[in-house]
Amino acid sequence: MSGYDYDIGIAGGGLAGVTAAIQLRKKGYAVALWEKNKYPFHRVCGEYISKESWNYLQSCGIDLPALELPEINKLEVSAPNGALLKSRLDLGGFGISRYRLDYLLYEEAKRWA
Ligand SMILES: Cc1cc2nc3c(=O)[nH]c(=O)nc-3n(C[C@H](O)[C@H](O)[C@H](O)COP(=O)(O)OP(=O)(O)OC[C@H]3O[C@@H](n4cnc5c(N)ncnc54)[C@H](O)[C@@H]3O)c2cc1C
Repeated sequence: MSGYDYDIGIAGGGLAGVTAAIQLRKKGYAVALWEKNKYPFHRVCGEYISKESWNYLQSCGIDLPALELPEINKLEVSAPNGALLKSRLDLGGFGISRYRLDYLLYEEAKRWA
């Protein structure tokens, strides 16, 4: 792609922007994505990703099984007085730093550039 002839411009390369860019490129659209930070970069996040998004992230080109990520199946909330609330997470999720996830998505988006 050359010049400034794009079908779609996306401001912000967070999870929404970068996954949209990948999906739109796969559909053949010319996409310009602007991110004010330089990848890879840290951001505040609990780093728990629900398994709801497993198939979607794979459809964006992230080979999740190959990453051997920790599974998260239980939740514990503690209070200053020591009280502990425990619950199983039926669907569960996996742990991955946003530094790593965003960068993997960014690399995948670049592959489609
Ligand atoms: C403290 C905290 C903890 C969280 N923990 C979790 C968690 O454990 N699990 C989970 O699934 N979700 C978590 N979330 C929610 C998750 O971070 C958001 O749902 C997700 O980041 C939203 O993605 P987004 O792309 O819409 O926005 P963002 O990720 O915020 O991306 C927006 C992007 O736009 C860029 N930008 C902004 N202005 C401009 C500009 N003018 N030009 C260019 N670029 C620009 C920013 O740099 C940023 O990269 C947490 C959120 C917070 C605040």
